[in-house]
Amino acid sequence: MKAGPFLVFLTLLTIVAAPVAAAPASPPGAHSALKPPVIFQTPMSPRNASYAINVALDAKAHTLTGKERVVWRNITDTPATDAWFHLYLNAFANDHTVFMTESGGQLRGDSFDRNHWGYCEVTGISLADTGAEKIPLVQVFPKQDHTVMRVELPAPVPPGGEAVFEVSFKDQLPHVFARSGFAGTFNMAGQWFPKLGVFQGDKGWNCHEYHANTEFFSDFGVYDVSITVPSDYVVGATGILWREVQNGKEKTLSFHAEDVHDFAWAAQPDFVDRTETWEGVKIRVLMQPGNRGSIPIYFASVKEALADFAKWIWKYPYPEITIIDPPLNGVGAGGMEYPTLITAGASPFLGRSILIPQITVVHEFGHQYWYGMEANNEFERAWLDEGINSYYEARIMDKWYGPGRSFVDDLWGWNFGEQDQARIAYLSASDMDPIVKDAWKYYSNRSYGAVTYFKTALVLKTLENMLGQKEMDRVMRAFFMQVKFTHPDTRDFIRIVSEAAGKDLSPVLKPMLYGTGTVDFRVARVRNVPDEKPAGYDLSEGMPKLYAKDGVKAEKGTAKTKAKAKAKTGKADKETYHSTVVVERRGSLVLPVDVEVTFADGSSRTEHWDGEGRYTTWRFTGPKVDRVVADPKDKVPLDLNRLNNAWVSEGNGAVARCMTTRNRTLYQTITAILFNVL
Ligand SMILES: [Zn+2]
Repeated sequence: MKAGPFLVFLTLLTIVAAPVAAAPASPPGAHSALKPPVIFQTPMSPRNASYAINVALDAKAHTLTGKERVVWRNITDTPATDAWFHLYLNAFANDHTVFMTESGGQLRGDSFDRNHWGYCEVTGISLADTGAEKIPLVQVFPKQDHTVMRVELPAPVPPGGEAVFEVSFKDQLPHVFARSGFAGTFNMAGQWFPKLGVFQGDKGWNCHEYHANTEFFSDFGVYDVSITVPSDYVVGATGILWREVQNGKEKTLSFHAEDVHDFAWAAQPDFVDRTETWEGVKIRVLMQPGNRGSIPIYFASVKEALADFAKWIWKYPYPEITIIDPPLNGVGAGGMEYPTLITAGASPFLGRSILIPQITVVHEFGHQYWYGMEANNEFERAWLDEGINSYYEARIMDKWYGPGRSFVDDLWGWNFGEQDQARIAYLSASDMDPIVKDAWKYYSNRSYGAVTYFKTALVLKTLENMLGQKEMDRVMRAFFMQVKFTHPDTRDFIRIVSEAAGKDLSPVLKPMLYGTGTVDFRVARVRNVPDEKPAGYDLSEGMPKLYAKDGVKAEKGTAKTKAKAKAKTGKADKETYHSTVVVERRGSLVLPVDVEVTFADGSSRTEHWDGEGRYTTWRFTGPKVDRVVADPKDKVPLDLNRLNNAWVSEGNGAVARCMTTRNRTLYQTITAILFNVL
């Protein structure tokens, strides 16, 4: 999912949008087959939670009536005595749910429409395939609201054993809010079917309530979903469409997906339906008619991300990726990821300079890796998807548009980069919460966004700066390849990247991931002391004798001191100075830093400090120190205040450069204030 203020911005830009003209529906190609195709000859995942679902949309009432058959295999070594299901849409049943209480009906700038509540009602659940009659199961609701349902099993499912559930359900879609719902004729079915939690052996079922800040967690499986909609509706869904059956005014579309852990779909009669391919991957865009001008942007963004991920991590293995463009009055459905389906956000009012459509598509596509195939527990360790993905989002955008212009590209001559935006967001709530934390326990939604998304992205940028980009790519690829189609946690990350890097990175990573410490490097003191002529008594020769005023021995000056005295009449820059430079590290986060010292003769040297201790001192003898910059190459993007990173001697030409830094910081401060207001 894309972070908060991002979509607020889009909302603001779309709020004044005019209604769009309807376009004729684009019928999908005819498909007919008897059984779904095999996508992967060898399964990529354990496939221990598979769903076969038949669902029908009532396009007027925005209800979904469905039946599902869930085949679950116990892949732990502990017998399971019960089963826990998520009923996510019950988060929108009333204003006393956990989600509504925590969010106050506000999320990412979107407001809940209290005239259109939603729910997911399980109208029947039974255990099938037990060799006996179907065994009806009794629903209980063990948590604070009805977003989690538990059923007791008549007999434990042993390790390696299977349970088959038959569930009938009815959904009422709310008006689009927090990813799902309807808006006019647009229907976004996300988190719409009764869905198993994750059984974790002796820890039981991991099945949290739907919280305002949390996303999801589930096991991999095969999905076969048949969706019945009015015949003029265009449907985009997870997986591939393999069969389409017309039945009077309705049609049933069958989708098949393998090695995924969720299934989402969208339906609307007037989607503009476009398809392109990239190296065998079918890219399908379902666009709002009013946004058709942005279709090439969506394709270009997906292709950019497909190419970069193929190069840096792994070639996208699925045959298709679908991009849904939600309507202007359903923007809360935008900027969201599901397996092989993402939702984006464009607006004809955005212009071409603000790169939000590109960034959103790149971000949501990145989730195919960091969420889709990684499948971490998003409730508890959201940094593993949102944070890592934000790092890749910035890298792809920086590579595509150039650093410093990857967020705003030439808006009346003004540019702004992803790195700047990440820093601003981080600064808005840098130290309230650590990165590793249950998502619903964050101090605020802003702290969750600032830390989970942006602090993580900056931490990974810091790691990249320490390791070098090539090495960073190697360790991140190693991490992905080892954890794909599993449920990795923070420990896996630290262990694998350390192994791949050939050194223990936990002393660097742990404080940044588990701690709330911050860092601020500051040039604390610079002193240039001229190689002073001695004053006072000269004791070197017999009787004490006062030095002369200019430091030259009153009677018999040496050649050296005479030369020095002569030099005094020349340029001051050529004088010798004893200089002291002190750089301070504020905050408790210990990070190494480079310090660039430039001298009056134009020469410079780069010193390295491991960051240990509160400050460090360098002493130089030679030309006067003219300028000191801590972290000249922005290798520590977590540095809270960059305004105090530079020192220049008075009257130095470099002041201009520092002023530029200052203006940039000032600008960042203003934007940060705006960010906070939003
Ligand atoms: Zn995201």
